[in-house]
Amino acid sequence: MSDFQRCENCGEYDWKSKHKCAPEWEAILVDYHDEDVPRKAFGHTIESAVESFCERGFSDWDHPEEMEIWAREPGAVEWQKFEVTVQPVPGFTVSEISGIKAP
Ligand SMILES: [Zn+2]
Repeated sequence: MSDFQRCENCGEYDWKSKHKCAPEWEAILVDYHDEDVPRKAFGHTIESAVESFCERGFSDWDHPEEMEIWAREPGAVEWQKFEVTVQPVPGFTVSEISGIKAP
């Protein structure tokens, strides 16, 4: 059986026996559905924590093109504020062309 699993704490896929969670932060999406409870974010820098927070929390959502995320060390008083621009990911749809001969 594979030891490669999703960590229940930080959400990263990694080898369970070697995995160590990245440092923990608190993050919150500002002005969204009156959400006002900070959630955990993980990253070695505050910027990477904001990035993984967006990837984990919002990849399947109908999110705006730009978001404002606040993040801080757990228990800190001051928030650091970040502007996040959402990049659309290209997708490819393949269909066979019938009735045309190859060159
Ligand atoms: Zn982890």
